[in-house]
Amino acid sequence: MDQKINIKLKTHTVRGKCLLLYGWEKGREDMATGFWIASSPPPSPPPSLAAVATSSMAKTLTVSLSTARRLSPFSSLSPSSSSHCLCRSNLHLHSDGNLRHRIRPTHLIKASATNSSHPASGEGIENLVIIGSGPAGYTAAIYAARANLKPLVFEGFQMGGVPGGQLMTTTEVENFPGFPNGITGPDLMDRMRQQADRWGAELFQEDVEFVDVKNRPFTVRSTDREVKCHTIIVATGATAKRLRLPREEEFWSRGISACAICDGASPLFKGQVLAVVGGGDTATEEAIYLTKYALHVHLLVRRAELRASKAMQDRVYSNPNITVHFNTEVLDAVSNSKGQMSGLLLKRIDTGEQSTLDLKGLFYGIGHTPNSHLLEGQIELDNTDYVLVKEGTAETSVEGVFAAGDIQDHEWRQAITAAGSGCIAALSVERYLVINDLLVEFHQPVAKEVKKEIKGRDAQMGFDITLTKHKGQYALRKLYHESPRLICVLYTAPTCGPCRTLKPILSKVIDEYDKNVHYLEIDIEEDPEIAEAAGIMGTPCVQFFKNKEMLRTISGVKMKKEYREIIENNTTVMSSVNI
Ligand SMILES: Cc1cc2nc3c(=O)[nH]c(=O)nc-3n(C[C@H](O)[C@H](O)[C@H](O)COP(=O)(O)OP(=O)(O)OC[C@H]3O[C@@H](n4cnc5c(N)ncnc54)[C@H](O)[C@@H]3O)c2cc1C
Repeated sequence: MDQKINIKLKTHTVRGKCLLLYGWEKGREDMATGFWIASSPPPSPPPSLAAVATSSMAKTLTVSLSTARRLSPFSSLSPSSSSHCLCRSNLHLHSDGNLRHRIRPTHLIKASATNSSHPASGEGIENLVIIGSGPAGYTAAIYAARANLKPLVFEGFQMGGVPGGQLMTTTEVENFPGFPNGITGPDLMDRMRQQADRWGAELFQEDVEFVDVKNRPFTVRSTDREVKCHTIIVATGATAKRLRLPREEEFWSRGISACAICDGASPLFKGQVLAVVGGGDTATEEAIYLTKYALHVHLLVRRAELRASKAMQDRVYSNPNITVHFNTEVLDAVSNSKGQMSGLLLKRIDTGEQSTLDLKGLFYGIGHTPNSHLLEGQIELDNTDYVLVKEGTAETSVEGVFAAGDIQDHEWRQAITAAGSGCIAALSVERYLVINDLLVEFHQPVAKEVKKEIKGRDAQMGFDITLTKHKGQYALRKLYHESPRLICVLYTAPTCGPCRTLKPILSKVIDEYDKNVHYLEIDIEEDPEIAEAAGIMGTPCVQFFKNKEMLRTISGVKMKKEYREIIENNTTVMSSVNI
């Protein structure tokens, strides 16, 4: 008897030509039987099925196995011409009930045999590499991953900023849509990262050191690997120039900022006397903007004149809430007895005279440096080194290379505009891959089971010394007294951006020495007394202990090898250890 099977009909068009039908045998959903495929109009499938396929109402159809076999392109159709896009499908049933497919047009295989400069997709060549993990990079990653492109994202490590981008250095973000009560920069970036990860983007916390877009496929080399790819999205951002004042780090985001539009309305600055340093269009625009919220704004200019456009100068001079100080250099920030920023130490360049100006906030308006050096000499940059894109698009001067975010925008420079351009770049990549028949789609991996994080409280309830990773002071006390292993303690704080960078790095290193070390996270806001006792002055900070003795303290984010070295020097690798 002829077996009946369910055919789920799906259509997929490539350049309006291809029509894809595919299906699977009931009970064999894990091994979807992929057939079908034809150009439009289909050359020879049985009319009944073709009719059904073109009907948008029809979703499933039961046919006999023999009919299905007749539909198989491998038995009845042949790729006679390149316009006749005959594809072999490789289908997988995703947990959401939809089939995900990997498509490899056969005429591309032919093309690759004759044109080695344009090899077929899927032969170790990635669809897309995204460089940068700010709002532009992660948004591009989310869109590309959802389109089954399986993008590779180089999130960066220390070149051109930290993973997560500029928002990792700020506290409250009050103007990103969707967060009526605001959200901290690190939290926002963490969410974007999780969303990209959830949809299957491959994330590497590595700096890209070399890019070649003169030869195809393109080459991208990071500190740890080299990949070939058909397209690149450059989202490496721009770095706000800083004065590097002696106490700048101490007051960064607590009195000193590089973004008036972002921070001007915050309670810290509202109704206060503020200063902007710089004499160009950016500085004058920031000074004018800040008068909306500030009691008064001082514009501190090194030269004897403003460089800003005449129109901006007029607006500044006619604003009674702005005082311009020419020939003035900022030497440092000063604080009050509570340790809060209370003013600036200034020096007159012409006379050398020093003075203190009382105020609550300083904004840098001295420009940005776009992180474009990787592409210097390979794509067109403007005269200030920003990547040039065709207006309203993400297209650069090299086909297949797209740019998004602050790297191509010296005007708006906001998280939302960066995210928007990341979306445009990802959609453009998909279109480019389809048009050039380079697209290889990857099915989404089955959703990973999310492991429940161990909270400090949980640790107390169910502390288990055989586990490698722990949290909270109860676990620290237990481990300190009872563990024979090397103990690695990471001190973090909820608002600390670099802590989020360090956590996955350290966690991966610890996994390499599982069962030979104990790892513990202490949130210094939850357990302030522990942090005080350990002499922690800032986060992130890592301390190593063994046999109740503190061996080493490492502040900040370091390369994996530095943590590995300490672990290796203080660990005897045990093969069958229980604790
Ligand atoms: C202090 C501050 C506060 C701000 N507050 C706000 C705000 O409240 N609201 C708002 O809308 N905007 C705010 N902004 C502006 C906003 O942060 C930027 O517009 C936005 O982050 C730009 O996003 P991006 O993705 O283009 O680049 P970025 O955020 O700059 O990210 C660039 C990324 O590229 C990576 N990278 C660089 N070079 C390499 C390399 N060679 N290899 C691999 N990776 C690399 C970096 O690690 C980083 O991840 C603020 C900016 C600052 C400085």
